[in-house]
Amino acid sequence: MHCGLCLDQCPTYRVLGTEMDSPRGRIYQMLQVDAGRLAMGESFVTHIDRCLGCLNCQTACPSGVQYGSLLESTRAQIEQNYRRPWLHRRLREHFYRRVLPSFARLSRTARLLRFYQRSGLRTIARSSGLLKALGVAELEALSPQIDSEFSFRDLGKVFPAERPRRGRVAMLIGCIGSVAFAELNRSTIRVLTKNGIEVCIPQAQACCGALHAHAGMHDLARAQARRNIDAMLGPEFDAIVVNAAGCGATMKEYAALLEHDPKYADRARQFVAKVRDVTEYLAEIGLIEPKRKLARRVTYSDPCHLAHAQNVRKQPRALLKTIGVEVVEMPRADSCCGSAGVYEIVQNEISMKILDEKMEYVALVNPDIIATANVGCMLQLAAGVKRKGLNAEVLHVIELLDRAY
Ligand code: SF4
Ligand code: SF4
Repeated sequence: MHCGLCLDQCPTYRVLGTEMDSPRGRIYQMLQVDAGRLAMGESFVTHIDRCLGCLNCQTACPSGVQYGSLLESTRAQIEQNYRRPWLHRRLREHFYRRVLPSFARLSRTARLLRFYQRSGLRTIARSSGLLKALGVAELEALSPQIDSEFSFRDLGKVFPAERPRRGRVAMLIGCIGSVAFAELNRSTIRVLTKNGIEVCIPQAQACCGALHAHAGMHDLARAQARRNIDAMLGPEFDAIVVNAAGCGATMKEYAALLEHDPKYADRARQFVAKVRDVTEYLAEIGLIEPKRKLARRVTYSDPCHLAHAQNVRKQPRALLKTIGVEVVEMPRADSCCGSAGVYEIVQNEISMKILDEKMEYVALVNPDIIATANVGCMLQLAAGVKRKGLNAEVLHVIELLDRAY
């Protein structure tokens, strides 16, 4: 159609202003590569790598172009046919194939990072100017604070409902979520159990595979999907609940990922039917109102993978209203903050420009709290608060509910 109605919704187009970094331009390049008129070379890969995969364009498109599917297929082709620089390849291999699929290796890596953060090494690296000299100061500031205890300690546990039981769920604790957002996982369990839900943390669960799928590594994403289906699909669970929008969006795609797998296709469909973002699930069962109301001014920033990928927009806002906070809408609340998985690390400069634009909108409504529903967005928005010099807290919707209880 080439109508261009998606252009203004695309964060990379807004900050870079180049057609090749717009959804329309990227689709044009995909078609050229497909027709053999453009090489799958550095230029093409650069413009595709700069895409956040935020799907802001997909929901804006009046013609129903499924940009997300086009992007994922393109990234899979790049992964198979394009040779990235040696160091880049080695780092990707290590992170995606060795660290993420294994909770044990992820724990070891997180403990090393925690040692760096707490031993004084970080203070030395920052004050000596070493990080600035290496050009990684902003990246280092974005790295999450590693928790004292990881959520892996809860694997295999069951948390009983605190009042007459209304349901039973399996909960995904996540990979990065388990080492850097363990307290958010605990908040999620507390809020669910307060609402009469028994929460099981299946022992054999794995990372959801979202980062692999977004990197074009579909073989690894499928392997993770099979592990989670084996671990979490069962008649004993009413729902499979997740508190990270990025993970939930990928888990809802397991049926598409495994459609050609005769052993798993049917079970993947059953799995998808049970996946719920935790805000979606609580709104569905009806939140038990806390006795205490919170008198705070809150703006909600939609995670792209909740609003654009899962069409969950009303539920988090409705939950916030239930606890009595004043919800103030910022302009472009559902525009990407620039986090997008590992984008803030691998495309840091563009990511910061997108974040700065987002923070301009946040500043307009001057909130006490910026609420969101995805761990990556929480880190990014917290960095944005510092950059903009705002006096606002960044919290997951669930953490606000937990405070109210
Ligand atoms: S997914 Fe996001 S960054 Fe990529 S083309 Fe669409 S709007 Fe732009
Ligand atoms: S992707 Fe959709 S909105 Fe964008 S140019 Fe094509 S038809 Fe228009």
